[in-house]
Amino acid sequence: MPILEIITYGNPVLVQRAEEIKKIDKTIIELAQNMVQTMHATPGIGLAAPQVNVSRRLITIDLSVGENNEDLIILINPELINQEGEIILEEGCLSVPEINEKVTRPTRVVVKGMDLEGKEIMIEAEGSLARVFCHEIDHLNGKLFFERLSPLKQSLIKKKLRKRAQAGKVE
Ligand SMILES: [Zn+2]
Repeated sequence: MPILEIITYGNPVLVQRAEEIKKIDKTIIELAQNMVQTMHATPGIGLAAPQVNVSRRLITIDLSVGENNEDLIILINPELINQEGEIILEEGCLSVPEINEKVTRPTRVVVKGMDLEGKEIMIEAEGSLARVFCHEIDHLNGKLFFERLSPLKQSLIKKKLRKRAQAGKVE
């Protein structure tokens, strides 16, 4: 299975609302498998399809990064149906390399979605898992984690990222 390229800030796919998955065909199953492989190889604890340049509503999460099979979550059309509490913790993103910022997220969430067999599943999550769910579902709505910060912080980060992109082009 191939490792997919993870796109970064500046790519328009990251700011689009990803499309609902209506039919779980071979393409979707392969995409999910490749995303898991890519997430483990990178390594990362969560990945959303737009991050591999596919604007569809699919996320993969594994807090154990491949250590524990039971921790692997593949969710199609995930929806946040309930959230509780607030906690501020540092967060980063594979699509926004080298930027880590403190972000407020709920402490507890309930997420609804479908597995690869099309079966509806409901997951109650707390702590890190709740945070990763929020982060990945944000990706499906075209929202990056630093867009949850104050407008001032956001513009500082965008400036930094633009500078970095320009430096990259000169090389
Ligand atoms: Zn991310």
